[in-house]
Amino acid sequence: MGAGSAGLTLAIDLARRGVSFRIIERGKQPFAGSRGKGLQPRTIEIFEQLGMIEAFLNASAPYPPIVNYGVGENGPQVIAAKTDARPGEPYPLSLMIPQWRTEEILRARLADLGGQVEFGVEFAGLAETENGVEARVMVDGQAQTITCAWLIGTDGARSTVRKTLGIGYPGETGTFRMLIADLPVANLSADGWHRWPKAPGGQFALCPLAKTNSFQLSAELTTDDTPDQTREAIQALIAARTGDPSLIAGEPTWTSIYRVNFRLADAYRRGHAFIAGDAAHAHPPTGGQGLNTSVQDSFNLGWKLAAVLRGADAALLDTYESERRDIGAGVLAMSKGLLTQMTDKADMRRGRDTLQLDLNYRASPIAAEARSHPGKVQAGDRVPDATIIDPEGQTVRLFDLLRHPDFTLLAIGGAAISGALARPGMRMVEIDRGPGTWQDRAGELRANCGLEGDCLMLIRPDGYLAGSSPHGWAHERIDDALGRNGRGRGACGTGYRTRAARRAPAAGGRAPIAFDLPFPPSGRRLASASDRGSDRVARNRRACRINALCPQRGARRCRILAARHRRLGPLRA
Ligand SMILES: Cc1cc2nc3c(=O)[nH]c(=O)nc-3n(C[C@H](O)[C@H](O)[C@H](O)COP(=O)(O)OP(=O)(O)OC[C@H]3O[C@@H](n4cnc5c(N)ncnc54)[C@H](O)[C@@H]3O)c2cc1C
Repeated sequence: MGAGSAGLTLAIDLARRGVSFRIIERGKQPFAGSRGKGLQPRTIEIFEQLGMIEAFLNASAPYPPIVNYGVGENGPQVIAAKTDARPGEPYPLSLMIPQWRTEEILRARLADLGGQVEFGVEFAGLAETENGVEARVMVDGQAQTITCAWLIGTDGARSTVRKTLGIGYPGETGTFRMLIADLPVANLSADGWHRWPKAPGGQFALCPLAKTNSFQLSAELTTDDTPDQTREAIQALIAARTGDPSLIAGEPTWTSIYRVNFRLADAYRRGHAFIAGDAAHAHPPTGGQGLNTSVQDSFNLGWKLAAVLRGADAALLDTYESERRDIGAGVLAMSKGLLTQMTDKADMRRGRDTLQLDLNYRASPIAAEARSHPGKVQAGDRVPDATIIDPEGQTVRLFDLLRHPDFTLLAIGGAAISGALARPGMRMVEIDRGPGTWQDRAGELRANCGLEGDCLMLIRPDGYLAGSSPHGWAHERIDDALGRNGRGRGACGTGYRTRAARRAPAAGGRAPIAFDLPFPPSGRRLASASDRGSDRVARNRRACRINALCPQRGARRCRILAARHRRLGPLRA
């Protein structure tokens, strides 16, 4: 519900996964304003993953330097954006692109994938049913019903979906209010973001909108009056705030009055309905986080929804809120701090946190780190880019390898991979494993991830590390990360279960059993095994199925994980 950046990103991700959906938008035509004009590096990586990087690079530009007027004795103060480029970060700079153009590119990509926005359709209410949701929508004043398995409210800060679900949106409405407008301004260089922090009547700025002939005007409003938004009134405002009569306003293409809000939804899900984007969090525009956080909410939710629709345990969807709500709270605190910095000290500098590259899901219930010395990239972290060599000797980027909707298993170093590791919905890439495999020739992958020794890295469809393990634990860890030890189909459509679900009783209400025995019992059938502990296996021989067998670290013992509802098979160490 709602075709802003959050709704469109989700629609694109679902479309490329072949999931059937409808995306409706209350507006009769696309949004026309520049509003969220800053794309952060992590969002740019996501847009690359979704197949839109060329369009975004062509339509955007790095932010120009900030030019502050009236803050010192020595003329305008110029502050250039600093880059803190680190290995594995292909897009170190934030890019400027007006929001209307971002949404235009998203709609074009959606159309390439066969989807389209239904304009002029307004969400008006919902009823939860046993298997999904019945949404009531208004089209030309007529009520219609849409029946769906899942409903996602991407309908902005005033979200009707959130209100209908009864989800609280606590926080505060700030006192900072401004007029925003897009318009051409003659006699002003487009090489700087012009700011008058101490202008009479309140802060004032004119920011050139990359690859357009317009500027985004923002003027602090110190009274509750609604200002005149005609060209003539804006011309007078420019002259009064800048003191420069040579600046000539053109006709505005969009104007809006904006008051800052600091709010975070109490929950991101109720039953079969979710909220994402501004519907779930509202913060000031300082730091340029709103649109970016909205895109990333959707990118987190898309693969999980698709997996559950293919049969994965619905508990996977609970991780959307547990992963994204904490991020929303952090972004809210950061942009609030930046607003104080801007209003108190006229300081517009943004730190590395605003790039959104270091956000992680380490605390997520589905992050499975099994290495004793994980290195700098751990389960739950964004996996950095690196150049590697393909089996034909060509240099490629890791991010190129990850550009598909499935999980990716990187098997780095060690012996050739066992076919038993293959899983539907998961692509395997063997690196430094002899002839015919990929090579980390320059050691970039190992350096960027801080890898020590050989390991397996299982990467989620959204580019975060699901789990990692040293080789000896491969089978069990992969199955754990994909949740194949037991019932259900996975996050990749084959057997996903969350940690909580893995602790829950197996099919038929009987808990899985887990016990240890000396290692290795290789090749023996359980019926004849005489190892210590195996009597428990033998007692259950008619009722158990061995799901995993793995050596316990530092001990010559095995752990057997078995479900109680199948016959025993032969043991394989
Ligand atoms: C001045 C300003 C500057 C900003 N700068 C930045 C920036 O540099 N970087 C950044 O990341 N963010 C920035 N933001 C924030 C950014 O604009 C928002 O965070 C972003 O638009 C949120 O996207 P969304 O898709 O969640 O919601 P929206 O963009 O609000 O989209 C919601 C959509 O839902 C539709 N809708 C609403 N109700 C219904 C309904 N009942 N039925 C159907 N459709 C409905 C709306 O018409 C709208 O199209 C800025 C905001 C402002 C005001």
